[in-house]
Amino acid sequence: MTKLTDETRASLKSRTRLIHLGRDGAQSQGFVNLPPFRGSTVLYPDMETLKSRKQRYTYGTHGTPTTDALRAAWTDISGAAGTELVPSGLAAIVVALMTAVSAGGHLLMTDSAYGPARAFAMGALKRLGVETTFYDPRAGAGIEALFRPNTSAVLTESPGSQSFEIQDVPAIAEVAHARGACVLMDNTWATPLFFPPHAHGVDMAIEAGTKYLSGHSDLLLGLVSANETWFPRLQHTAGQMGIPAGPEDVFLALRGLRTMELRLREAERQGLAMARWLSERREVLRVLHPALPDDPGHALWKRDFAGSSGLFSVILKPAPEAAVAAFLDGLELFGLGYSWGGYESLVIPFDCASYRTATTWAPGGPALRFSIGLEDAEDLKADLDRAFARLKAAA
Ligand SMILES: *Cc1c(COP(=O)(O)O)cnc(C)c1O
Repeated sequence: MTKLTDETRASLKSRTRLIHLGRDGAQSQGFVNLPPFRGSTVLYPDMETLKSRKQRYTYGTHGTPTTDALRAAWTDISGAAGTELVPSGLAAIVVALMTAVSAGGHLLMTDSAYGPARAFAMGALKRLGVETTFYDPRAGAGIEALFRPNTSAVLTESPGSQSFEIQDVPAIAEVAHARGACVLMDNTWATPLFFPPHAHGVDMAIEAGTKYLSGHSDLLLGLVSANETWFPRLQHTAGQMGIPAGPEDVFLALRGLRTMELRLREAERQGLAMARWLSERREVLRVLHPALPDDPGHALWKRDFAGSSGLFSVILKPAPEAAVAAFLDGLELFGLGYSWGGYESLVIPFDCASYRTATTWAPGGPALRFSIGLEDAEDLKADLDRAFARLKAAA
């Protein structure tokens, strides 16, 4: 096997790219997978090399062949100029925000943002002199009214990972760029395979690799990809913060990368089947899934996204808390737990009303978020059939 030429690589479909990216037979001594390089110290052959600063690997925090492989692959599928790896999705949000804001600055954050991103803005960023305004995720170009002379960044997340509003990211980017602000996006739901972030105007895209890149709920990882303008600044900030991703997690993420598109396509198919089935249940008020034609975000999703993942929410018709607990407690196939994107199906109750400030969350009934895994959908439906029977009995 010879090394891929740039021309061949550019012509490859994403599924093929995911198999070949970041693989260098010479570096892995012929083995298919590159091992996890572990290490702090890197030895120099002599003083001249040390002084020249030309040696590629210099210290564990500055990268290894394992981290380079994943960074190169992610940069390619994201259409980015470069990628930084950090130990969690939350750390990716933190590094991206720390790159984009400064003391005395102003940040716009979607009201649908991942909860801990909000906590970071209201905690550490506030203490460091950065003010945050939360905005309606559906604001689109209307976000312009919220800009101030010192607004330096806009954080988007589309769709929100509990409430599933699709944002008009290109319209927001146009407004932000006209005012010199940086556009960040938490792209964990769609991944670059279903939403190439930089082609839609995003300057820095955040991915919790913990979810679909891992695919097996056995690691924590964050990735931040950036375009040419922002990558040097991102690299600088990440380097100063000293939070490299762990070698074993990066190794496992490279493994997950090879099957990510297959798993995502299956999650999409299964997720849609389950979302449609749930939307027809009489116990269900509505399903929040942007790929369903009657979803308020459907037109934008159709315009900008190449697919949907297996994560969506369901609003039940009003039911007592004890009945919802009976629904959840007896589940045999769905696990009750946070996170998502693994091979196993999960469900978790949630309530955005407790933290939202720019929009009112009043969905009309108890809210449940589902992450649909790779089980047979008929088995999943049977598990939920029994759950609905328990809900009815306890109501
Ligand atoms: C899980 C998640 C994160 C954080 O990822 P961790 O690796 O768990 O820190 C960030 N954003 C979204 C949308 C998530 O779902």
